[in-house]
Amino acid sequence: MSVCVGRFMSSVYPCIINGERVQAGVYGVFEDRNPADVDEVVAVFPLLSREDVKKAIDSAEEAFEKWAALSPVQRGKYLVKAAQIMESQAEELARILTREEGKTLNESRAEVARAIDIFKFYGVMGSRIRGEFTPSADARTHLFTLREPLGVVSIITPWNFPIAIPSWKIAPALVCGNTVVFKPASYTPLIGYKIVEALNAAGIPPGVVNFVTGSGGEVGAELIINDKVDAISFTGSAEVGEEIKQYACRSNIRVQLELGGKNPSVVLEDADLDKAVEMVTRAAFGLTGQACTATSRAIVVDKIAKQFEEKLVERVKRIRVGNGLADGVEMGPVVGEKEMKKILSYVDIGVKEGAKLLIGGKRLTSQEHSKGFFLEPTIFTDVTPDMKIAQEEIFGPVLSIIHVHDFDEAVEVANKIEYGLSASVFTTSLPRAFEFIQRVQAGVVKVNKPTTGLEFQVPFGGYKRSSYGDIKEQGETALDFYSKLKTVYLGY
Ligand code: NAD
Repeated sequence: MSVCVGRFMSSVYPCIINGERVQAGVYGVFEDRNPADVDEVVAVFPLLSREDVKKAIDSAEEAFEKWAALSPVQRGKYLVKAAQIMESQAEELARILTREEGKTLNESRAEVARAIDIFKFYGVMGSRIRGEFTPSADARTHLFTLREPLGVVSIITPWNFPIAIPSWKIAPALVCGNTVVFKPASYTPLIGYKIVEALNAAGIPPGVVNFVTGSGGEVGAELIINDKVDAISFTGSAEVGEEIKQYACRSNIRVQLELGGKNPSVVLEDADLDKAVEMVTRAAFGLTGQACTATSRAIVVDKIAKQFEEKLVERVKRIRVGNGLADGVEMGPVVGEKEMKKILSYVDIGVKEGAKLLIGGKRLTSQEHSKGFFLEPTIFTDVTPDMKIAQEEIFGPVLSIIHVHDFDEAVEVANKIEYGLSASVFTTSLPRAFEFIQRVQAGVVKVNKPTTGLEFQVPFGGYKRSSYGDIKEQGETALDFYSKLKTVYLGY
């Protein structure tokens, strides 16, 4: 079904509950608009109610027994098939992603490719879901562990990696034998829908993957409190994560929360400066700074600070900001008006706190930018570690430079924060690199690399306020979250 919204024809998409298309909730529908051109409605989706979500959870519960009874190898085949379907649509998916979220087409292509790889990886992992055989004290006993699925898993995701994050949750959940109710962020429902559509086209049985859209406070909340839910995997802001944590502490279900970051890049005096400038630029302003692993603090030793700043400003001046679909654009818009206002309010805060604005700080309003939420890449210097712009997640293209005397002070500043997601150091000294790896409090540490950019085959998750739950996402470790171990004593 299509509706005419402004000058565009826009498709109305359904939710998927028990394999059936649910067109509109009791609350009607909501629009998904392009942040580079707000006149364009990319898609329209149902605004579901709690009652609709309960039906989705019921259908996941009903589908569980049969799905769990399949061999993981059989389940993995559905994932590989879905990956192949997405691969055949890769360019279309990348364009949808850019139109919904704003990132550049190259960034979208990379994210889509990663989602496809994730589905293939966990599809193949179907043949690697295993327990352990351990010698027993009794010679005529076999002692081993089995992995069993948890049941119904609620998956709630943010808008900034709207195909990669759902993929790295849905794929391991399914291959382990769980059924899923998935809620995407309201800025990016279409790309999430496309994942579920691919799984359906791959023949996954009805009820195994349910797709629900609507408000976080209603649809999201039901996915958290419903007592038929056996596990929750959430990625989003620390604020919402903390609400969920209150609930999780009272219930007895498995919960994984991946939250915000305020990631440091430390630049030491022996660094390859050109490389550090390029990597910090990419990590701070790539994806418009809207990555949980984005570099938002550059911690630079005094000796090279001036030189680093000059080179960085020169590089950042060359960033072309515009519609992510256009050639040569290196930075797209921010995702929405609310987010844009929040970022600009942090620029004001930085100025009031006494930080020095080196470049940027304003909304772009030229003809090319008039219809979207475009911001200048922004750099503050003379930032002190206790300023709000050095402590709070801004989640946009704003970098704070903090000067330090030496390596020890750099590590102290890097750690003096409530977040601990990703951190990097630029140095040519191996001992310094190892010392940084040991001392920095972050779930991901990189050397001479940007804080952004993750590979799917290794675990990912943060320390401190950036994460909750001991079991990380991605890699083989994800299978630990989505399964429970049964220990068997088999005497013969
Ligand atoms: P958000 O917390 O506003 O929303 C995330 C999801 O939660 C959305 O689907 C939203 O609808 C839903 N939600 C909102 N209120 C809810 C409630 N009360 N109960 C249940 N669900 C609810 O976050 P966002 O703005 O979509 O994403 C940006 C944030 O995500 C940033 O803080 C970023 O750092 C974080 N993030 C973290 C990681 C990571 O792996 N650590 C990755 C990407 C993004």
